[in-house]
Amino acid sequence: MTERLVVVGNGMASARLCEELVARGYGGTVTVLGEEPAAAYNRILLSAVLEGTHPLDALTLRDPEWYAEHGIVLRTGTRVLHVDREAAVVVLVDGTEIGFDRLVLATGSIPTLPPIRGLIRMDGSLHPKVHAFRSLADCLRLLGAVPGAGTAVVVGGGLLGLQVARALSVRGVATEVVEGTEHLLSRQVDARGGAVLRRGLRQLGTEVYTGARAVRLTDEGLRLDNGYTLDTDLVVLAAGGRPSTALARQAGLLCRRGVVVGRHLESVTDERIHAIGDCAEHAGRTTGFVPPAWEQAGVLADHLAGGDAVYDGSRSVARLRATGLDVAVLGDPERTDGEVVEVTNPVAGTHRKLVVRGGVIEAAALVGDLSRVGLITQLYDRRTVLGPHEPGELLMAERPPGDGSTLLPDDAEVCACAGVSAGRLRACRDLDEARSTTRATTGCGGCTGVVRELLAARNPAAVPATSFHA
Ligand SMILES: Cc1cc2nc3c(=O)[nH]c(=O)nc-3n(C[C@H](O)[C@H](O)[C@H](O)COP(=O)(O)OP(=O)(O)OC[C@H]3O[C@@H](n4cnc5c(N)ncnc54)[C@H](O)[C@@H]3O)c2cc1C
Repeated sequence: MTERLVVVGNGMASARLCEELVARGYGGTVTVLGEEPAAAYNRILLSAVLEGTHPLDALTLRDPEWYAEHGIVLRTGTRVLHVDREAAVVVLVDGTEIGFDRLVLATGSIPTLPPIRGLIRMDGSLHPKVHAFRSLADCLRLLGAVPGAGTAVVVGGGLLGLQVARALSVRGVATEVVEGTEHLLSRQVDARGGAVLRRGLRQLGTEVYTGARAVRLTDEGLRLDNGYTLDTDLVVLAAGGRPSTALARQAGLLCRRGVVVGRHLESVTDERIHAIGDCAEHAGRTTGFVPPAWEQAGVLADHLAGGDAVYDGSRSVARLRATGLDVAVLGDPERTDGEVVEVTNPVAGTHRKLVVRGGVIEAAALVGDLSRVGLITQLYDRRTVLGPHEPGELLMAERPPGDGSTLLPDDAEVCACAGVSAGRLRACRDLDEARSTTRATTGCGGCTGVVRELLAARNPAAVPATSFHA
């Protein structure tokens, strides 16, 4: 009998899983159930839509026609309410039951609501000034509020908060950021890196309050625990998220922070049920970024199609996608032991830090200048042993013309989201072919510059002068 595979969620991990299943000729029937009204779209680019640098209608990852062409049943605007493991069915919000032999949970994460009094009104709805920023619907609602808004406060100075603050500033809204820890991006960079980012935001006209928590929203504004009240038309919540595990918990699957999975991304409670992306927890870690979600989707598709791939965890690579606020973080530089080699140039707005142990780069943080990110990522991935002067030389070198990407060897990874090497890109005729066959540049877009350089080195006509991501 043909295997019936049901996927809950039609976000970035789910779309990638479908692509990988198609590429591997998976023989079962696939049904995808997504709560959002639109087919899967690139969530990373929502802030670019808010900023006005990416067209709304170019967000879709795969449109409904693509699913139909590949025999995949896609039902959008459909929330799964319940998973009945005994009957092997999922129950939709309208009571419909859909049977499965295998189930994949790709339910993503849900935004954390910070403990601010006045955020929620008596009827349970958000205060009209308050906005989440997780979905296309959130983005459209915020975009709709921007024309009438003179001021905004972004609660949370992490990756998402910085993207949103930057976008609102560019839209002409006087924006302030409130961050509870002592500096911006405190989970990824140190105080010097945070100071460089703060300076960058100030240059955009965005004020930053660190070491301060928003405690109450009143008619006068947003009150902070340091006594300030920020008069504001909009409050955007960007205080992080947590894996969406309600369905899995209710079904009795072991969940800690996320749905606990093994090497085939299978629930440790029920091997017919898998979890990928933001909702999954493997070896004690949840992820929250696109590259691991796509890696998990690839491994699971291989497993479902009869391959022998296993998942051993993903290396951690975080890229901030916000024009003028360049950040790349490899590993966990703030919590990794080793010798620290760092160069900060507040005047130029750059901060570069390597954590080196036994000559190997164990972690890195680059703020304000990503011109060396390709090379540093390659050395980090390969665990290349560097001589005593090399880490310093890597950081001291001033911005080279281009980023030297044409010198990358064929096996160097260029696109961290889709795991694409320089060699695979060099084999492409042009940018369109690179996008459609490898999916490079279609995730966070951080690799676009390098991809363009690699293609242009072979054939200058291969790369159009303008691109959404560049
Ligand atoms: C604004 C923003 C910017 C980001 N920027 C970056 C970035 O620069 N780089 C990066 O790597 N990552 C970034 N991320 C994180 C990245 O988007 C996520 O890691 C990625 O989307 C995870 O994919 P996923 O499929 O697990 O979850 P999602 O893409 O969130 O998809 C989950 C889907 O499941 C649906 N769903 C949930 N429950 C149900 C249910 N019961 N029934 C049916 N459907 C359900 C949800 O509605 C959602 O559509 C960003 C996230 C946001 C919000």
